[in-house]
Amino acid sequence: MALIVQKYGGSSVGSVDRIQAVAQRVCKTVQAGNSLVVVVSAMGKTTDGLVKLANDISKNPNRREMDMLLSTGEQVTIALLSMALQEIGQPAISMTGAQVGIVTEAHHTRARILHIETERMERHLQDGKVIVVAGFQGISTGTELEITTLGRGGSDTSAVALAAALRADFCEIYTDVPGILTTDPRLVPEAQLMDEITCDEMLELASLGAKVLHPRAVEIARNYGVPLVVRSSWTDAPGTWVTSTKQPGRSLRDLELARPVDGVEFDTDQAKVALLRVPDKPGVAARLFREISLQKVDVDLIIQSIHDGNSNDIAFTVMTPILNKAEAVAEAIAPVLRSNPAKSGEAEVLVEQDIAKVSIAGAGMIGRPGVAAQMFATLAEAGVNIQMISTSEVKVSCVVDAKDCDRAVTSLSQAFEIITSPFPHSHSPMPNDHSPVRGVALDLNQARFAIRHVPDKPGMAAKLFGLLAQYNISVDTIIQSQRCHIIDGLPRRDIAFTVARIDAEQAKTMLCQAAIECGWGEVVLDNAIAKVSIVGAGMVGQPGIAAKMFAALAQQKINIQMIATSEIKISCVVEQEQGVKALQVIHAAFDLAGSEKFVVPA
Ligand code: ASP
Ligand code: MG
Repeated sequence: MALIVQKYGGSSVGSVDRIQAVAQRVCKTVQAGNSLVVVVSAMGKTTDGLVKLANDISKNPNRREMDMLLSTGEQVTIALLSMALQEIGQPAISMTGAQVGIVTEAHHTRARILHIETERMERHLQDGKVIVVAGFQGISTGTELEITTLGRGGSDTSAVALAAALRADFCEIYTDVPGILTTDPRLVPEAQLMDEITCDEMLELASLGAKVLHPRAVEIARNYGVPLVVRSSWTDAPGTWVTSTKQPGRSLRDLELARPVDGVEFDTDQAKVALLRVPDKPGVAARLFREISLQKVDVDLIIQSIHDGNSNDIAFTVMTPILNKAEAVAEAIAPVLRSNPAKSGEAEVLVEQDIAKVSIAGAGMIGRPGVAAQMFATLAEAGVNIQMISTSEVKVSCVVDAKDCDRAVTSLSQAFEIITSPFPHSHSPMPNDHSPVRGVALDLNQARFAIRHVPDKPGMAAKLFGLLAQYNISVDTIIQSQRCHIIDGLPRRDIAFTVARIDAEQAKTMLCQAAIECGWGEVVLDNAIAKVSIVGAGMVGQPGIAAKMFAALAQQKINIQMIATSEIKISCVVEQEQGVKALQVIHAAFDLAGSEKFVVPA
């Protein structure tokens, strides 16, 4: 007999018929010998409707009253589902977040869960009752006992947190899609259902998967090792398992207050190869990385910042033992990349052996502006200069001088209160019999900034990203380029990054002002970009993955504006108009297409 937490989303409980169908499924699960806690969302589009009502009355409704209002949606569903269960002879009891004791911080409309009382639930379960819990809501800590909500889409988070607190055997998320797909089926009808994906991969795919599964839910599942499956409520198909490793003994206090960063990693066994001033046109990265993969050289970080004039620099890191081989490949290909093979000053190879990669990792940085800024500030205080930066959803990696590595790691561990000792980055490929690339995501809602000629000295990135954090602007991909200009006697580099497009204008005004004050160069904004990313734990230690992605883009003559990577993710920024095409060709290049077309539910 298992203890299972099931969660049903809004469309799964959108009508009386559907609530009755859910009751049948719940009843069947109990009859198979299981104990059940069921978490439900508000019916259909109820929450949207409530938000609209509030906006009709106030442009800026009080957050406390918003929680009071929005939490009613779920309360309707729990009562109706309990009645439906009782009607078919299944004892059941409905409970609000407060009645359960889902205790949260006192932050209205975006509270994080602190802990969950389990005693009353355990009693009801022993009595053979199904417990139906209102998702998305809790009760604040302290004496005021305020109703709080967890943020839109938060019922997934309620369900996984309940599963963690009750030490349930697993958590099932029932929704109107059959599981997690390799990409967005509205753009690529050949998208395929995955039978399994790791929590880490899922988090890196946040821009693809967030609609299906709240990233905070994935974070809890990973931190507590809760087995999680996303399935369709209309069929008995097995769905997609979101896997993690068991985490025995983690405290259930401060359940969701996990620090934004849960690990500091470093790797001193890396060396950097840069190709300076290669032409900014389609196919260059593809040629370079094709040669590299033919020679079976496995690259780790790849960084290309935005063009400077009509050329770009592409830098990558490899493990030191294969540096010679990597350098030889780069030297051999360089003349081919020159517009005129004899011309000097183009496609020059630069090698640097004494570097280290230092990274912070953690799902908690999603949606928390300022984490990257804090990393840069910490490094600046420690007097560490950052040579290159590359970021992904859940990781920020900096290339620094090897002699600074220890100092960087120590101060970062302190700043982010990492109790476990920092771990060297492991190079062993993950055991994974799936395709090395699991999913492809497209983000069309970002804008790209470049700040030209930022002095290359400690503290500049900290200043820049600290400012953005102050304005509550979340930064997505950050890239600091290789190229260095000497202006006014100071070495300077460009820093490029992306932000949500809705924040772009505000960011621009603020950055132009800061640029004057800090003596930076021009602030360049491009709203018409797209970011396309591939994610897969299996790409670790596998040469040729980047080459394949770049080749697919080159074949379509799509120019790559920027490249940023983490161990399990490669992102390219391309022109917005080419975003969908880029997604489609990359998805096809990795053989992710299924034989059947996916029908998007209405
Ligand atoms: N009903 C809430 C929303 O629509 C929470 C949820 O469904 O997850 O955002
Ligand atoms: Mg949802």
